[in-house]
Amino acid sequence: MPKFRRRQRSTSIFFLIWAVFSALALAVVLFFSIPQQWIFFRSYKREASESVSAKGKVIETEINGGLPIGWNSGWSAYVRRLSYEHQVRIFILDENGVLRFPEESTSQAPSAEDSDWADFAIISQEMAEAHLEKIIRADGEYTVYENGEEFVYGAEVTLDKQNRVTMYLYVGQSLELMNTALKGMTLRIILLAVFVFLLCFAVSSAVAGWLVKPITEITQKARRLAQGDFDMDFHGNDYGKEMVELADALNFARDELSKTDRMQKELIANVSHDFKTPLTMIKAYASMIIEISGEIPEKRNKHAQVIVDEADRLTSLVSDVLDLSKISSGIQALECKLTDMSACVHEALQRFEYLKETQAYIFVTDIEEGLFASVDELRIGQALYNLIGNAVNYTGEDKKVYVRLKREENGFRFSVTDTGKGIKEEERGEIWERYYRSKDAHKRPVKGTGLGLSIVKTVLERHGLPYGVESKVGEGSTFYVFFPTEV
Ligand code: ADP
Repeated sequence: MPKFRRRQRSTSIFFLIWAVFSALALAVVLFFSIPQQWIFFRSYKREASESVSAKGKVIETEINGGLPIGWNSGWSAYVRRLSYEHQVRIFILDENGVLRFPEESTSQAPSAEDSDWADFAIISQEMAEAHLEKIIRADGEYTVYENGEEFVYGAEVTLDKQNRVTMYLYVGQSLELMNTALKGMTLRIILLAVFVFLLCFAVSSAVAGWLVKPITEITQKARRLAQGDFDMDFHGNDYGKEMVELADALNFARDELSKTDRMQKELIANVSHDFKTPLTMIKAYASMIIEISGEIPEKRNKHAQVIVDEADRLTSLVSDVLDLSKISSGIQALECKLTDMSACVHEALQRFEYLKETQAYIFVTDIEEGLFASVDELRIGQALYNLIGNAVNYTGEDKKVYVRLKREENGFRFSVTDTGKGIKEEERGEIWERYYRSKDAHKRPVKGTGLGLSIVKTVLERHGLPYGVESKVGEGSTFYVFFPTEV
């Protein structure tokens, strides 16, 4: 039994679908989330810087205005109150970057709810000096900059109007909210990506299962088909148009294979029968020569002639089978040359000459002379011989066969007509098939193997010549070949 050759390892449909789904979903997630995060980040920073500079300006004005009338708790408490009111960190530094207000010793929250602000008095010396430098560089103007986790507003302030004590204001607005929001967004994206992957896995499993099921089914049936089981039916209903088309194509292949298989078996039966008949005759006549006619020259010669004829029959049968396999496999290339087709038809007819005398066949011919075509003379001669031979085999009681070779508009046409039973319409396509043989019994003055028309078809198709059959049941058939001028 032939073994199935396995294809190289290839990726499964499930994996391909899953990979495509996941890549697509991930691309969509990233495409929407990354720009969104970036836009959020940018606009939050812009707003934070605008907000800190607005608040900074208000606080600067308030500090420059001095302690409000009736405020007795001193600058530290006042600075803390402003901090609380504007929800920012405020420091007032001296020209050495030393923190002056609010003083650490007095830094208590103005109220219990404000305990979050307890750390507001913490500013490192390093930060303070860097801040001073920025304000000095601003040369009397205010400055806004980003410093780690916060946006900072800085400006010079005058605390004691009379003594003109210049100090440096630090107003810091935290970016913590933004960072928290960003972290939240990132987490949501990660969760979404995980969810998308899981969803892709589930969906691709379902889709792959749905797609693979009919393919697996069809593969199993195709294997059975390859082993010669022609009884099963491929169907792709419920799996979409393409599957139905694939199933139809496989059903068609199954029908063709089973037809070829049947015809092949029939051929073997026919050919063995055709081989057996002459062999039996040869054996019988040889025995007759030995036992009876050996001494009587007249009879012996007659019997020997039968042996020679039957041997010829066998030779033709073998050569027909060989010819067909050679022509169809393309082993023998065509040897085309300009050929006198009129002479070729005469030659083919010559081979049937003996039937005129022995069996009273009538060949009615109308052959125009001087018609040439570039063909493989031997093969075309064989095709014409087969067509005339069939007409002889199948013609009616009048034993008439009409052979014509006539000029036409764009070339010339060979045709052979008989007066037989004709060919049913549904059989007209099949008769050209290899191994096809009519079930109707017929007298056979010319040997027939069921290969004749198949040889004609192969030869004409290899030449690219149009051919066909016209037939009327009960009246006869006309087989024709057209030779276009350019051939
Ligand atoms: P064979 O003649 O040996 O059976 P062919 O291949 O030559 O094989 O022909 C195939 C079949 O086509 C024949 O069995 C016959 O049924 C049909 N056929 C061929 N030629 C004719 C014809 N002139 N008239 C009727 N039937 C024909």
